[in-house]
Amino acid sequence: MQHKRTAITDSHPIDNILSSLENVIETQKYQYRAKCPVHQKANSSSRTLSIKEETDGHVLLHCFGGCDYVEVLGAIGLKKCDLYPNDGFIANWAYERELGKRTPRDIINDCKPSATLVQVYVGHILKPENWKVLSETLGLDDKDLWVLQGASECLRELLDA
Ligand SMILES: [Zn+2]
Repeated sequence: MQHKRTAITDSHPIDNILSSLENVIETQKYQYRAKCPVHQKANSSSRTLSIKEETDGHVLLHCFGGCDYVEVLGAIGLKKCDLYPNDGFIANWAYERELGKRTPRDIINDCKPSATLVQVYVGHILKPENWKVLSETLGLDDKDLWVLQGASECLRELLDA
């Protein structure tokens, strides 16, 4: 059993979503079915709504009756942002969770939020006014600037992979 060591957040949007739905059952780890609050009749006992928690903590909703997920959220008083950890998608990009068999593709996909985060920071650092302050403070020169830009481009490639 592998454990990923990452930033840990207590924010699990799925808890909030599941507690707002009726007839919830767990079908697999991190996957649930529930009654669709939009199109199912009050006395209906079927579960047409699929709820899945992704590795980054955000939640996917799918109604097999064809309802739009935004409508489903609206019916339980929630909004799109409630599908994401509450400090924003990137800030809480990961939390500790058991990892099963992961393919290189899974690993790349899991790295994308971190690559995005670093890219965002690098983007700020590379702004001329910020770079000037930082390079003076840390004693960096133009060569370091190119290295950082190169690293940023590598991350861009990872994000697009
Ligand atoms: Zn529905």
